[in-house]
Amino acid sequence: MIKVEHLYKQFGHNEVLKDISTHVDKGEVVAVIGPSGSGKSTFLRCLNFLEEPTKGRIWIDGEEITDKKINIMKVRSEIGMVFQHFYLFPHKTVLENLTYAPMKVKKMKRQDAEAKARELLAKVGLTEKEGAYPNNLSGGQKQRVAIARALAMEPKLMLFDEPTSALDPEMVKEVLNVMKDLAQTGMTMMIVTHEMGFAREVADRIIFIDGGKILEEGTPEAFFSHPKTTRAQDFLDKVL
Ligand code: ADP
Ligand code: MG
Repeated sequence: MIKVEHLYKQFGHNEVLKDISTHVDKGEVVAVIGPSGSGKSTFLRCLNFLEEPTKGRIWIDGEEITDKKINIMKVRSEIGMVFQHFYLFPHKTVLENLTYAPMKVKKMKRQDAEAKARELLAKVGLTEKEGAYPNNLSGGQKQRVAIARALAMEPKLMLFDEPTSALDPEMVKEVLNVMKDLAQTGMTMMIVTHEMGFAREVADRIIFIDGGKILEEGTPEAFFSHPKTTRAQDFLDKVL
């Protein structure tokens, strides 16, 4: 579903990603962890071209998105992204937040878009909030709406960038549970997270990034129980 070959990203003289290569299979759940400033967000943003790689090649579902000829808007519409901050449309209701892009970008009929939206709201446990405005929701509810909104576009894969980092502690679990359910449906997911318990339980694979490089890549069991590098060990000592 994702293939990355020798990806580099520079901001001015700051080389943020240094020769990242990896791949993610269809249905795989990969957790990306590492210290702050190590390039995790930049990496995720390169995968849907919110950042343009300086060098290297990326394929999404067999299509090379680093090919100059590609229609990047189309590729992006097939990738769901959920950020730390929710970026919901404040003047639209929850239901309208979910139907907007499918109607506008995918030219779905309102009736179909609404049916799909209601199905997704049920999945994230927010059926009764369809008429509410984002400002009247809790942080956890907003993030569940953001996830449902991304899913409304029927993406091939979902990217999450610290989806629970801005939430009050008591709301973290409801969002992680929605993500866990989603993982069980076979969605391909790449998740930047500091929730180590979640990563260990839900991820098929852990990628540990430090200083713009993948230092370790393996099963949660291997990574958490037997980290190979001292940098990963130090990181785990600090966060666990
Ligand atoms: P992480 O998500 O792991 O905390 P980031 O990918 O956000 O790390 O940032 C990695 C480095 O890239 C940091 O030094 C940051 O300042 C720099 N950076 C990120 N985005 C930009 C940008 N748009 N312009 C300039 N520098 C950036
Ligand atoms: Mg980040």
